[in-house]
Parts: sequence; C-alpha cells; structure tokens
Amino acid sequence: MRVRVLSSPLFIFLRRVAALLPAFVGAAISFWWTPRRDTLGFQCTPLLPDIRFRVHDGLRPQPPILSPPLATGKPSPAPPDAIVLFDGTSLANFCTATGAPARWSLQNGAATPNGTGDIYSRQRFGDCELHVEWATPTPRLRGQGRGNSGVFLMERYEIQILDSWRNPTYPDGQAGSIYGQSPPTVNASRPPGDWQTFDIRFIAPRFAGERLREPAYVSVWHNGVTVQKHVAIRGDTVYMAVPRYHGAAATGAIRLQDHGNAVRFRNIWVRPLPRK
Ligand code: MG
Repeated sequence: MRVRVLSSPLFIFLRRVAALLPAFVGAAISFWWTPRRDTLGFQCTPLLPDIRFRVHDGLRPQPPILSPPLATGKPSPAPPDAIVLFDGTSLANFCTATGAPARWSLQNGAATPNGTGDIYSRQRFGDCELHVEWATPTPRLRGQGRGNSGVFLMERYEIQILDSWRNPTYPDGQAGSIYGQSPPTVNASRPPGDWQTFDIRFIAPRFAGERLREPAYVSVWHNGVTVQKHVAIRGDTVYMAVPRYHGAAATGAIRLQDHGNAVRFRNIWVRPLPRK
C-alpha cells in the first residue's frame, strides 16, 4: 500500500512542487526587495506620514517651472554683521568630518567637491540665515546624478542642490527641496553653469531633554524666489526612508555635500539669529 502511494502520480507531482518551493520563495523575496521605480522615483518606499505620497515619489506633482528663467545675478555682498564662511580665497573655515582641513578644489574663487568628502563649517550654528551661491557643471548624466550636492543645516537636514534645469526627477529630490520630504513650490532653476543662490532661514528644533518639543522650520529662497515657506522639517535627511529626529543638539555645522559632481560654490555667509 505504502509503495503504491509513493509511486502515485499525485505524490510525484507534489514532490516536484515541494522541490521547486525554495526557488519560488527566493524569487518572491527578491521581487519584494528589488526597489520598484516609477519613471522618476520610487513606489516601494514608505508613505510620508499625514500625506498620500511616498518618500521620493515620482508620481508626486512636479513643481511648476518658472519661465522665463531668472537672470544670473552678481554675488550678493554679505551684510556687515554676517560671518563669512567662504569668500573664494580659503576654505580655512571648513573641515572634514574628522576635523582635518577641507581639501576641496579651490579655483577662480570657487570651491568644488573632488571626492574628498563632505565639508563642515568649523563653527556650529542653530537658528540662522544662510546665503550660498552655487553652479552645476556641464550635464553628463540625468536625474539625481546631475549636479547633485546639498547644504545640510546642523549637518543633518539637507536642502538639495541639483541641476534641475530640464532634468526631471522625483519632486522631493529637486533643487530647493528638503530632500526626501518637501518639494520646492516652484522650479526656479537656472541652466547649468549659471550661478544660482540659496537664501535660507532656519529655526533649529527644540528638545526637552531627549524629547522633541518643536521641529525645525525652514524657509528657502532659490534665486530670490520662495520655494519653502516656513516648512516643518520631519527629521534627519535619509534616503528611501521616513525621516526621524536623532539626538538633541541645539547647533551643528553647515555641511556641504560631495556627491561626486563638480558643483562650484562661492560667497557663503551666515547670520546667527537670536534664539527665542
Ligand atoms: Mg544632495
């Protein structure tokens, strides 16, 4: 009787199915973990709390493009009470993550990342106004690979720098976005090679001990146009994940990102704001 069961067609079929099961499970796991992209971003990332879009959601509405583009401006002089972090002559006010002197390329009054990593202002700031001028290089790639850099407030909240001139990508990764969180309200980008400006007003998060009492808020003007208006920052900048606050620091460095693209920087100054 047992021999007849073992040699029955049904048993043989079930045995073959069982033998293939690990391969099916492996393929299903692999499919599940492979980042599923829409045309411009991702549809496998978590939903941002309280809105219906995912982190780096390519289906999120694109910011309208300002047309005609804004004319390139001259460097705007630092106010008398500003702390000049970079005037085109020296990177002495910046260092590496370990405190070593910053080693970005310095040429024709501009500093350019060169693969030596992000640079950090030696001085730390909380509430402040920040002015940064930047220009993206001749485009070679598309999307996030094109003119990518960034200004990190308190070294952890990134305002994205990107060549967003005729370069579609997910809205929360465009120039002037709070990266991974809030797209700019408009695309105020100038063409690659043109100098562009960020003027940023930042209010640091408030903590009671280790507990977040009030999130950070930021306003950003890109080439003089408001692209973030007193927007609450959701937490530390992260890739493909929901941002959260970590630590309870009141101040941090101004950090400039080396994302492997030769974005030039000039004329960087900051005005600390009195802490209320
Ligand atoms: Mg970036």
